[in-house]
Amino acid sequence: MSFITLNQIQKSFEGQTVIQEMNLEIKKGELVTFLGPSGCGKSTLLRMIAGLVTPEEGSILIDGRDVTNVSPKDRGVGMVFQSYALFPNMNVYENVAFGLKMKKMEKGEIHEKVMSMIELVGLTGKEKAYPHELSGGQQQRVALARSVVVEPKVLLLDEPLSALDAQIRKNLQKLLRSIQQRLGITMILVTHDQEEAMVVSDRIVLLNNGQMVQNGHPHDIYMNPATEFAARFIGHYN
Ligand code: ADP
Ligand code: MG
Repeated sequence: MSFITLNQIQKSFEGQTVIQEMNLEIKKGELVTFLGPSGCGKSTLLRMIAGLVTPEEGSILIDGRDVTNVSPKDRGVGMVFQSYALFPNMNVYENVAFGLKMKKMEKGEIHEKVMSMIELVGLTGKEKAYPHELSGGQQQRVALARSVVVEPKVLLLDEPLSALDAQIRKNLQKLLRSIQQRLGITMILVTHDQEEAMVVSDRIVLLNNGQMVQNGHPHDIYMNPATEFAARFIGHYN
């Protein structure tokens, strides 16, 4: 059964079609990657699922509910971006605890959840550190912890690792995958990095010029690219 459904989604900016008649189904607990070159519409598609951009045509369902006209905060989605949007004046513990405090959760329960989430992302001992005292990779670990701790129905990640060095990026890919598998969170990852998509995804949705080129298991797309674009982009001929 489909957990997230996109029905005939369409979006244009200034007369230019950016997303064209997009249909997509995502299952609960799946990690689906939107992969494609810069400008192909990945972020726009993700932002429509988040509710930050409104489609002109079509509808979006999350967990059986039509959310097309529902505000971002009422959709049960969390988001992680490329730039670390941490609160600079709060330490690691306070950054991770913030969303739970907003939920008016009891203090002891907050403490337990925050400490176990900090451990899960490998930052035990850094609770009192401030964002400026952390590396880029550590900051993204905090960003991930902060988004996951509130248990979103769906976690949307827009190029969260793209600004990081190769080795740190690899470590965080593993972390992302392990969190997703351990907690069973439905995740949509946006990336232009085919290697990253191959490593972390249950399924890749390959996009070009606002259209879906191919939709399948990473291995299947690699072995059987549907078009020449897919073959080139996935690196079959390289
Ligand atoms: P990607 O994330 O794949 O790089 P985007 O979804 O950001 O692509 O952008 C797709 C296209 O839509 C690009 O041509 C971009 O310039 C355009 N676009 C995105 N957002 C806006 C906006 N708010 N206003 C005008 N054009 C936009
Ligand atoms: Mg983008």
